[in-house]
Amino acid sequence: MSALNWQKIDTGFARELDPTGQLRILSCYQCKKCSSGCPMERDSDLHPHQIIRMVQIGRKEETLRSKGIWTCVSCQTCVTRCPMDVNTPAVIDALRAMASRAEIPKSVRQVSLFNRIFLEWAKRLGRIYELGMMGTFKAGSLNLFSDMEKFPMMLRKGKLRILPHLSRRRSNLRRVFKRTIKKGPK
Ligand code: SF4
Ligand code: SF4
Repeated sequence: MSALNWQKIDTGFARELDPTGQLRILSCYQCKKCSSGCPMERDSDLHPHQIIRMVQIGRKEETLRSKGIWTCVSCQTCVTRCPMDVNTPAVIDALRAMASRAEIPKSVRQVSLFNRIFLEWAKRLGRIYELGMMGTFKAGSLNLFSDMEKFPMMLRKGKLRILPHLSRRRSNLRRVFKRTIKKGPK
């Protein structure tokens, strides 16, 4: 995709997501450095540079209904690589908040459920507890018995812990959650 003629583009969606412009959405010139480093690129219907472009050109409906905004793991690789300091993970967070206020399409509901469960366990323990997370996800998605054959191998290889480990600094993380919730979505 090439440079845009901003005079002809409706930037209302970008301004709705980021009224102060601090996320630098309109600075993106589609170099794709973000997408080439994104670990979730293969699992997503929209890559990071495409999400930013969709926002720039005001494709609100399609962006909010995409799976791409839920597959991001907030690793920050994209923002680190971006020559224009576009804060893609923060844009994605704002998109998630907006999509959650609207109705989440059935096709991406499981991805959004996983995302909520991941954050809930992180908030409780200060770190991730895979077994608890998988159990909660399976119960929540009413899909209790899928992938059961993988459990013994994962336990044997030490990929799953039976009991959770608590982070000694979990109170710090709780404070971060509390402050973020208090601040509310953008
Ligand atoms: S790295 Fe930055 S400028 Fe390049 S496509 Fe991604 S968001 Fe746009
Ligand atoms: S923060 Fe999200 S979009 Fe950016 S590189 Fe990581 S997974 Fe991809």
